[in-house]
Amino acid sequence: MKRSYRLAIILSAGMFLTGAIPQSDDQLREQYIEAVVRGKGYMPWQEPGLSRKEIDFRNLIEQRKTQLLAARGPIRRPVMLDADARKRVLRNLESADWARDLVRSAREKADYLVAQPDGYVASMIGELTPWYDYGMTCPNCVGHKSQEGIGHGLLNWDFHSPDTLTCNFCGQAYPSPRYPETQKLVCPRTGQTLTFFLNPEEQAHPENRTGELAYHWVGHPMHMSFTGTIRQYKATFMISGASDLALTWFITNDPRYARRAQQILLRLAHCYRGWLYHDYWNTVADTDPLYAAAHDDDLELAWKRHLSTEAFAGDNLHKASMKRDFWGAGRLHPSTDSMGTLSSVSLAFDLVADARDGSRHLWSATDREKVERDLLLEWAFTGEHYLGGPDQSKLINNKSPRIYHAFASVARALNLPRLADTALRGYEGVRDESFTDDGFSMESPGYTMMYLSELLPIPERLHGFDWPDSFAGRQTAGDLYAGDARLRLMYRMMIDQLQSNGVELPLEDTEVGDRAPGECIEMGLKRYPEYFKGKTGTLLGHSRPGLYALFHLEAEEIVKADDLGLAEIYFPGWMTAILRHGSGQQATVLSFNFSPEGNHRHADNLSLFYNDRGRTILGDHGYVGDMPVNEWVVSTFSHNLVIVDDQAQRFRDRANPRRPRLEMMFATPRVSAAEASSDAYGQCPVYRRLVILLKGPESQTVAVDIFRVRGGGKHDYRLFSELASSDAGARGALRFEGLDLPSEPPLPDFGGSIKREAIFGLRDARENIHPAAAWQAVWSQPGRSFRFWCLAPVTKVSAANGPGQEDHQHYGRRVRYLDLINEGKDLVSTFVGLHEPGTPEGSMAVRSARRLDVPAEAGPDAAALAIDTSWGGCIILNEFARPAMVEGVRFQGKLGIFGKDSKGKAWLIAVGASALQRDGIGFSGQAPEWAGRASGKTPYALTVSSRPQGWTDPPKDCRVWVLLNDGRFDTGFPVSATKADEISVERFPIPAKTTGDFRLYALRCLEAD
Ligand SMILES: [Zn+2]
Ligand SMILES: [Zn+2]
Repeated sequence: MKRSYRLAIILSAGMFLTGAIPQSDDQLREQYIEAVVRGKGYMPWQEPGLSRKEIDFRNLIEQRKTQLLAARGPIRRPVMLDADARKRVLRNLESADWARDLVRSAREKADYLVAQPDGYVASMIGELTPWYDYGMTCPNCVGHKSQEGIGHGLLNWDFHSPDTLTCNFCGQAYPSPRYPETQKLVCPRTGQTLTFFLNPEEQAHPENRTGELAYHWVGHPMHMSFTGTIRQYKATFMISGASDLALTWFITNDPRYARRAQQILLRLAHCYRGWLYHDYWNTVADTDPLYAAAHDDDLELAWKRHLSTEAFAGDNLHKASMKRDFWGAGRLHPSTDSMGTLSSVSLAFDLVADARDGSRHLWSATDREKVERDLLLEWAFTGEHYLGGPDQSKLINNKSPRIYHAFASVARALNLPRLADTALRGYEGVRDESFTDDGFSMESPGYTMMYLSELLPIPERLHGFDWPDSFAGRQTAGDLYAGDARLRLMYRMMIDQLQSNGVELPLEDTEVGDRAPGECIEMGLKRYPEYFKGKTGTLLGHSRPGLYALFHLEAEEIVKADDLGLAEIYFPGWMTAILRHGSGQQATVLSFNFSPEGNHRHADNLSLFYNDRGRTILGDHGYVGDMPVNEWVVSTFSHNLVIVDDQAQRFRDRANPRRPRLEMMFATPRVSAAEASSDAYGQCPVYRRLVILLKGPESQTVAVDIFRVRGGGKHDYRLFSELASSDAGARGALRFEGLDLPSEPPLPDFGGSIKREAIFGLRDARENIHPAAAWQAVWSQPGRSFRFWCLAPVTKVSAANGPGQEDHQHYGRRVRYLDLINEGKDLVSTFVGLHEPGTPEGSMAVRSARRLDVPAEAGPDAAALAIDTSWGGCIILNEFARPAMVEGVRFQGKLGIFGKDSKGKAWLIAVGASALQRDGIGFSGQAPEWAGRASGKTPYALTVSSRPQGWTDPPKDCRVWVLLNDGRFDTGFPVSATKADEISVERFPIPAKTTGDFRLYALRCLEAD
């Protein structure tokens, strides 16, 4: 072998190199890389055709397919639907618009597809590998109307003109002679040639093919193939077309639909088998695609094809890697090969595979087997290696559920128990390792929903699976919906983390406006009506019920849009407190996040998000997936919290992960509060925030904010509002009362720029270096305003603007930031503020808010303030180490609130207090807390002792959380009741690893007669 290489090299050396004849592997490597990036095919020294190892590998795969299919039992189709499904569909068509619309639109597409001429199916599903739109840039409007590397959403495709893509921002159509695809990427071993556009810089510098001149997507050079992306759109359209045809056949029994679905599935099987394995960083494997998937880091260099020389760094001649594993790779689509799609493909096949025209079967055994082998199994196998190999379920991450889901679907459609068992083992692994005991994932709300969208369908697709005796454990496990406690928790979590209109909190990596996945909502109604009944319309929002509802639910149930009935809640694993007030879709919500480390989380411990009656007041930028602005979105500096020493919080530090801690939480009809701390700043022994939500009529609220920081030399309490952003134009403003600042320059207009100044950090800062001890800032725009009351002296106040981009469309958006800054050595700060949303009518509830002097005997941490609102007033006393009197109120303890409603009726709420008294109401000499170590536990109770004398549980509508270490973190659980020897909790089970150390603050709520 080596010898013939040498000979070939001598003959051809002049083609690539002048001077030295290449001999070493390194020289061959260099020669190859320089050639492939310029579109060359075979190297002269390369053996043509597939190698022995690829051929052997393929033979084994085909044998496995044969064995799997031969071992299965009989199938009565459709096996993925219950026996009543067709009757139910027809009933739903009678009774519901959404069902009629769903079926009508499927039928319209089905009619369109059956009306197309011969050759249409082949023209829409090509043999040449489809490309993709990740990191796609519009060369016509980049930097002006669109951002570089924007990717999905940039281009529009319409099946009526299937060979054109159009820029959504500037209207440019592709392919275009103005932007020709002049660069070839040749894959000689498999006989495929892809074509690409080179941007003007690359065209001007043909000598530089490193990739540095290419457009980039999150740091990687990207080359665009408009024609290849069109192939993907076309194929994807036809895949969904097969589903539409199958559904229409199922309803009409008109064989024309089944026949066209059959043609599509057969064509897909033919083409999928040949589509090359490629990754989303532009690498293509010129080899048997399943071989490439199974050897993605162990390829011959000359099988790896890429247009940038930098992509080959780290490769040697006989060991080259794809740039990305299956996470970002595939054959139809380079991200786990879009394997979730196999669910609908399996269903489409299931619906048509026994179709007849009169008495004649449409499918020959050969055709059926072709789809089973070359489409369903071939596609499923493409994901196998990533999970650990055949029959393995080792991989647990946020993309693995879609692969297990694909397995579950194919297993159900083809009746393959081994594959079904692998799917369920994968489900169990993800359930147990990617989720905490509260049912929440170890990622963000958005990614939790992404998990669920592919995880929850796994038990659903296999519900009622006919397990053979060889899977006795699966047989006896029975109904997972009844027996799997964590499955139930995941379903519940899906609802009770939401805002009252069904939208997710935009915390961590969660796109603003995201909702729970539609199919999961529908499955929830079917399987857990006790949680979902009456709510699914609200959960779905503007999106309409889908196929699952059509097949499995009764039409009127799914659209019922009652109140979600959301309780104030704290997720003990996610470590996020959600305070709420009011009912209906415009209820108020304030979230307080202090999650531990996790993927897709932010450097944002102790940050606030506040939505007042349907309008976001204090925001969180959410997630602009895989765009440079995300660096700002993730960073400490973009959040509502305190920044210490101009540093970001400690984040993604594996050796020393942040340790957040719940300090206190309670909820009552008048006031709710949560307090938490974090060690996210190593120099700060104290970094702790207390948030108190004062509740008024309807959904009106005011939030008191006490943020204590000790350590470091600079404390910057940062605040921004979603109000008065650049969206409000000239009518949005940030103004001050009781504080002078230089006037504000106009907000900058950065357009689609992704330069750093446009997408990271504050600018145009204006300052006051001698602020008064109390003043207000007001963010205002037509119809809404938000007032912040500063109630603590600070050394400096600074106002500025910063990036506010929250999706792919509204690039260049700016929001107005405010910073309250203390500087000094070994600094101690207590920031005290009041967040006051204005009503939509323009009125403000707070009449006055003032800090109260606290006698020295109360201790160094003590703080007190008085607030007067249109619904009454209150005095708030916090951290009184010893008893002291303030404005006639005697207090000792953690938090005491003495209030009067608008009619003058007195009330008080105290948590962790031994005394709170005024005007003859109140108490003194009481135990402020009950702490110790539990001697035993059940999932919902601690066995404890020595309940303090005189201990009483709070009224039924009040709730306090018991602080408990769950084995990892100091967190908390809502108490349902106490006995002398027991503390019972509700909603969330106590984790098995809890240490048993507990602290329960006494919560006392009194109302004057
Ligand atoms: Zn454009
Ligand atoms: Zn965030």
